[in-house]
Amino acid sequence: MSRSVLVTGGNRGIGLAIARALADAGDQVAITYRSGEPPAGFLAVKCDITDPEQVEQAYKEIEEKQGPVEVLVANAGVTRDQLLLRMSEEDFSSVLETNLTGTFRVVKRATKGMLRARKGRIVLISSVVGLLGSAGQANYAASKAGLVGFARSVARELGSRNITCNVLAPGFVDTDMTRALTDEQRGKIVGQVPLGRYAQPEEVAASVRFLVSDDAAYITGAVIPVDGGLGMGH
Ligand code: NDP
Repeated sequence: MSRSVLVTGGNRGIGLAIARALADAGDQVAITYRSGEPPAGFLAVKCDITDPEQVEQAYKEIEEKQGPVEVLVANAGVTRDQLLLRMSEEDFSSVLETNLTGTFRVVKRATKGMLRARKGRIVLISSVVGLLGSAGQANYAASKAGLVGFARSVARELGSRNITCNVLAPGFVDTDMTRALTDEQRGKIVGQVPLGRYAQPEEVAASVRFLVSDDAAYITGAVIPVDGGLGMGH
């Protein structure tokens, strides 16, 4: 069965791996991108999730070209790391605006069609850092922890309409986001991970594919770790 899927930030990194996994499973996949050339093989819509107008336009285009979104993977996210005392209002609010408010925006718009269809699957990409905390990432951790309360509220509100909403909390994944770290920082992180390595984006994508499959029909409001054991106990 081919479903209409949207992956925000599906042009690179974890989002692209998720888009590929769902397309390989037979779904029609739309991805958002902000600039440059998007990867081939998907319906690519230009959209900055901090802009409500662009979000609305993106949904209209997807609805026209591949039908109402039945599966949403809210993956787009940013970091702007800084120690608390040096963290500006802008450092804090811009990360919240993308990671939390941007996710609220795309989820809210997706549920319009899902409510009509009386079915839907929503997966939010959070982070182990949202549960563990991380020095220098108070803004990012707050935004990712916020996704948990948000998802669980959506799961309660929309469960009776056969809409599930789950959170995936990856650990450290080898993408542009973590390539920005120094070798020393990367070495320290790997030292804390029981499996002793970074995840590949495809390993995160495999769990997303499960969460949006029929096999996961009775899972909602869950926080699924894909973190090599880093967050054990949370
Ligand atoms: P990348 O930095 O490689 O990619 C980030 C993606 O988000 C890009 O596609 C980017 O689009 C998109 N994006 C950022 N801001 C916006 C915006 N305002 N509107 C639309 N799209 C936006 O990151 P990853 O692939 O590593 O991360 C993907 C998700 O996984 C993020 O939410 C991240 O927080 C989370 N995560 C990552 C981990 C890791 O170790 N890498 C660990 C845990 C969670 P563009 O190309 O236009 O910039």
